[in-house]
Amino acid sequence: MIKAILIFNNHGKPRLIRFYQYFAEDMQQQIIRETFHLVSKRDDNVCNFLEGGRRLIYRHYATLYFVFCVDSSESELGILDLIQVFVETLDKCFENVCELDLIFHMDKVHYILQEVVMGGMVLETNMNEIGGLSAAPARAVSAVKNMNLPEIPRNINIGDINIKVPSLSPLRPLRVLLCPPESDMGKVYYVSKNVGLGMLVLATIALATIIALSIAYDKERAKNRGKPENGATDSTSTPTPLTTSSTPKEPWDHYRLPDSLVPVSYNVTLWPRLEPDADGMYLFTGYSAVIFSCVKETDLIIIHSNKLNLSNFEGHHAKLSGLGDATAPNIQKTWLVVKTHFLVLQLRSALAVGASYVLYTEFQGELADDLEGFYRSEYTEDGVKKVVATSQMQATYARKTFPCFDEPAMKAVFNVTIFHDRGTVALSNGRETGTADSVIDGVPLRVTTFEPTERMSTYLLAFIVSDFVKIQSTQNNNLMIRIWARRKAIEEGQGDYALNVTGPILQFYEHYYNATYPLSKSDQIALPDFNAGAMENWGLVTYRETALLYDPIMSSTGNKERITTVIAHELAHMWFGNLVTLQWWNDLWLNEGFASYVEYLGADYAEPTWNIKDQIILSDVHKVFAVDALASSHPLSRREEEVNTPAQISEMFNTISYSKGAAVLRMLSEFLTEPVFAKGLSSYLNTFAFGNTVYTDLWDHLQQAVKNTPGMHIPHTVHNIMNRWTLQMGFPVVTIDTRTGSITQKHFLLDPDSVVDRPSQFKYESTGVEQQQHWLLQKTDAHIQMRVSGEDWVLANTNVSGYFRVNYDLDNWDRLLSLLSTNHQALSIINRAQIIDDAFNLARAKIINTTLALRTTKYLSKERDYIPWESALRNLDYYILMFDRTEVYGALQSYLKKQIQPLFEYFKTVTANWTKVPTGHTDQYNQINAIGMACSTGVDGCRELIKSWYRQWMESPHSNPIHPNLKSTVYCSALAFGGVEEWDFAWRMFKNATLASEALRLRSAMACTKAPWLLNRYLEYTLDPTKIRKQDATSTIQYIARNVVGMPLAWNFVRARWSYIFQHYGRGSFSFSNLVNGITKRFSTEFELQELKKFKEDNLHVGFGSATLALEQAIEKTSANIKWVTENKAHVLKWFTEEST
Ligand SMILES: [Zn+2]
Repeated sequence: MIKAILIFNNHGKPRLIRFYQYFAEDMQQQIIRETFHLVSKRDDNVCNFLEGGRRLIYRHYATLYFVFCVDSSESELGILDLIQVFVETLDKCFENVCELDLIFHMDKVHYILQEVVMGGMVLETNMNEIGGLSAAPARAVSAVKNMNLPEIPRNINIGDINIKVPSLSPLRPLRVLLCPPESDMGKVYYVSKNVGLGMLVLATIALATIIALSIAYDKERAKNRGKPENGATDSTSTPTPLTTSSTPKEPWDHYRLPDSLVPVSYNVTLWPRLEPDADGMYLFTGYSAVIFSCVKETDLIIIHSNKLNLSNFEGHHAKLSGLGDATAPNIQKTWLVVKTHFLVLQLRSALAVGASYVLYTEFQGELADDLEGFYRSEYTEDGVKKVVATSQMQATYARKTFPCFDEPAMKAVFNVTIFHDRGTVALSNGRETGTADSVIDGVPLRVTTFEPTERMSTYLLAFIVSDFVKIQSTQNNNLMIRIWARRKAIEEGQGDYALNVTGPILQFYEHYYNATYPLSKSDQIALPDFNAGAMENWGLVTYRETALLYDPIMSSTGNKERITTVIAHELAHMWFGNLVTLQWWNDLWLNEGFASYVEYLGADYAEPTWNIKDQIILSDVHKVFAVDALASSHPLSRREEEVNTPAQISEMFNTISYSKGAAVLRMLSEFLTEPVFAKGLSSYLNTFAFGNTVYTDLWDHLQQAVKNTPGMHIPHTVHNIMNRWTLQMGFPVVTIDTRTGSITQKHFLLDPDSVVDRPSQFKYESTGVEQQQHWLLQKTDAHIQMRVSGEDWVLANTNVSGYFRVNYDLDNWDRLLSLLSTNHQALSIINRAQIIDDAFNLARAKIINTTLALRTTKYLSKERDYIPWESALRNLDYYILMFDRTEVYGALQSYLKKQIQPLFEYFKTVTANWTKVPTGHTDQYNQINAIGMACSTGVDGCRELIKSWYRQWMESPHSNPIHPNLKSTVYCSALAFGGVEEWDFAWRMFKNATLASEALRLRSAMACTKAPWLLNRYLEYTLDPTKIRKQDATSTIQYIARNVVGMPLAWNFVRARWSYIFQHYGRGSFSFSNLVNGITKRFSTEFELQELKKFKEDNLHVGFGSATLALEQAIEKTSANIKWVTENKAHVLKWFTEEST
């Protein structure tokens, strides 16, 4: 990536430009190799100088920043000349400079330069603190200091084009886009004008405090290929809509691969260096030969390659040869396109259709600790730093490991060889077929080869070199199952549980899918640094340690459940996703939704006593209802052409895809019945094995299964029914009037005043499923069985299998509430939870009143089951968040205290005065609720209990008396009621924790303290990777924001350092949007809304990446909160006051 920053002075007439060249490798450690140069206009040395930097990039895989400072004292040119010189220079020397920041104001030079560098995302600290960085920044500072400082120009004229400069904050750069903008910037209009350096295009973004000046320019390559310079000298001042002018001209400017070449197989050899080189860099080298066939005539080879330094063969980046009789055309030239991650080969003649060729590359890449592609993970064992080379290819990182056709439909067979240090073990997707000692380049090595993979997608590849050890078992069909982890973890038996459940879960799926496991081995490996929870690489599944390792003494029931469900989720993908793969990322929801649904089936098979299938209500259905009820939601399914760039792809990994996908597939399975669903699934998997599909292929096979099942009838095709759920966003609320039997439905919106601007071809008239398979096909319907009177009640959506909410007439609500208070067990556990959740949300949407919702919690003093309690606490949590800074909080607390007290006493009895563990799986969870809520509301005996446990632990750190199930709650409460002594003890225990889940509990609990200075100190720790691991930074900030004292501190912290956080921590898609969600959760005042909007505005130039949607949602939610608090505060205060006495 190349970014340019121009700091300039329009006051004088600049003649000389100082070029500062920075580049940074990992953002942790900046290295400045070359910094200062003085060149005059149109000096050829400019390119040489810049090219020098570019070569360094390729050597060091860095992001390159050019900082151009204009020295006004010697200048002769005006500002426009300056822009021209600058753009010409970039144009002449580069293809890939896409962004240019112009910094106008020079008022506080020292600070600005710091900000420049911040804006360019190089450094975050102030210049004085960058002691280790050679003299270069200091020289840059003093050079800028010596300039005459200009006024900010308000208007810039280039030819006929006038650019109005907004009243820029001196610290905010004006961004100039030098590449055609993304096609999704719908509000951009162009004015084009020939001003002698190609075509200048001015774009104004409607909302913007930014003016984007886009410069489209003809590429030399096009000329070389004999294409006319279309429009390059045409001038027009007519505004042209973006859609017509921004279509990329060249195949390599598109993000998608052309359809002319298809890979067949690869031979890939990789050699990761687990020791740094002389420059302190961790590298890997490798070579790859890909056999591909030509299916459409072309004289171009376009293949993905990103951040790889490719070796030169006679001036080209690759070698091409023909396979069999085919003769390879000569290569005319090769080049890299940084923006679209392509290596392009222009051939002198066309490839022959039907012929196959071999493309050979040699490359070097950085084994960075960026958690992307082939990367480096570090951990300490017995005081010794260890390095692991591991990988994460999904979605677009295989191209960062070796040149490849990196799209899911480009399946191929991979023959993998890994060179690695003796004493380490190499793993990949296939079983190891041989290992041999060798000496390469004078280095004694071990060479491991692997069996060829099945035909598979690049995003499922995995390569790992470590000194991990394993435990293993063999299934009856000779399937080898292994669990890999750090030696210590394995020796402590932490892999045993995973090994015990992996086999049964695989067997379950073989039966469920009616298809044998397609590979000869199943490896699961626990990694110290891992961005996602786990990744379903085919045959070599990678996990965070907390998602795989279970310590029978130290881990809680919740840890165990997570391990079971994550393994079940990943193994479900071995067939659904890996064997049969969706064509493109727009259908990600089907892949992830499916695995998120059947993980409950797999886990239930492994742990039948847990009733885990019920928990989908809490973990997915209710969770996604909250998001999908917003006007900013989006449909599950997107059109293929809407998802192109890596950023768009990574945005697909969201709650809607996972949890709504799971919820609607569960609904589908329930109304088709599980045997029919499984039958359709099996025929789908068998038909498309080793191939690719689109989501409608699954509907076809399910429809076929319906057809082949005697007596099975559904009122519409699977297509028609499911389209209503996948092509329109949101879900309905079904209203049943038991006085008349009428049933109506409408789109449920949490904020009834919100406006849905996303069109739906169905106008949100969804086809819902109703109780006992009553099909609701229209917006309104009547059903005689729904008409009841007297004591009779109606409860719809039994088993909560439908993806919708239910409302009733008031009489029926009253009857349901009275049933709850007299005999709540007449309703199933999940229906009790559903009544609470529906009522609270209907009240939020102003469909019923708030006190009706609150009344659903009155029976809780008799409730002992977990799921209804959890549902209530999550809903009441909203009241706590909205009111814990107001006078309502006192009454709310007394009410909760009254309701929780019986549960607390119940568990005290069940556990024989807290000495035993409750037997039921979910009872163990509810005990945690009881203690947590009892302590926070001040139930007698709770705080004393917690304090004494924690005190005992502090006195003898090696024998912790707190049961693992209760640790999170106890630690949090103890720290909330404790001071620095308790905190520092927790920190010491955190640093010494050998079990990841124990570290996680402590990390979360340390955010519970009420002392602002401890919270601020902790916030500082989050951005120091020696204190808090990079993968944990954003979640730690979120924990702090969860605390009423920590929230404003975290918000200030994040605002002040957004560009740094974004650059360094913005990659994990979930964690990053969670950060924004977490911090803004409590926002409920006009002032906070304004702050949020200003935050968005101020950071448009930095961007929000995968948090973009979350930020929009935060603004929407804050507005809704403001309204809700205004309307409800008085009623709520009154109700809690009355009910708490
Ligand atoms: Zn998944």
